[in-house]
This record gives sequence, C-alpha cells and structure tokens, in this order.
Amino acid sequence: MSSGSAIRGSRVGSSPMRPDERSEPAPRREVTYWCASDHRVDVLFAAEAPSPETWDCPRCGQPAGLDRQNPPGRSRVEPYKSHLAYVKERRSDADGEAILAEALAKVRQRRGE
Ligand SMILES: [Zn+2]
Repeated sequence: MSSGSAIRGSRVGSSPMRPDERSEPAPRREVTYWCASDHRVDVLFAAEAPSPETWDCPRCGQPAGLDRQNPPGRSRVEPYKSHLAYVKERRSDADGEAILAEALAKVRQRRGE
C-alpha cells in the first residue's frame, strides 16, 4: 500500500515543548459561599491566602457567607429571631392548620355530616 500524498504537514502547531513546570499556577482552593437567595458562589483563593467571611454574590449582589443555613444577607432582610421565636412561629403554623381543619370540619357538619 502506497499513499504518496500522505499529509505530512499535520504536525504544524504541535509543540514538542512542555509548559515549564515552574510556571504552573499557585495551588488554589475553592471556597463555596451561599447568599440569602441560596445562590452558590464558588470562589478560588490562593491556598495560603485566608478566605474572607463573606463574598458578594455575583448574581444578586447580596453578601454570601460560608454557612448555607445562615447566610449573612438574611439578617438584613429579617430581624434577628431567637430560637424561641422560630419555635413559636412553627407552633402558630401548626395552630393555623388545626384551625383550618376545625373550620373544614364545621363546614362539613353544616352540610349535613
Ligand atoms: Zn445571590
């Protein structure tokens, strides 16, 4: 088999040189931040550099924090609530459901059981 017209110029652009290992980027680490709108923000920092506690979310501009459950922006939107306040809030929700269920039961009774 002879292929006289074999393309021999295909090596153009391929470089035998390897990138200098010393020019590799410094080690990085990825830090994930969460804003109050639950946007995930992945930020690369130099491995030795300390990561800030907050980072501005590029999507909504709110400050994003390291704790997804407690992003820094949320305190701006809602006033601080104690644990007890949250418990009470949940209870009132449960009460609301109970009241609704009671009301529905009354309606059904009125309709003639
Ligand atoms: Zn955001």
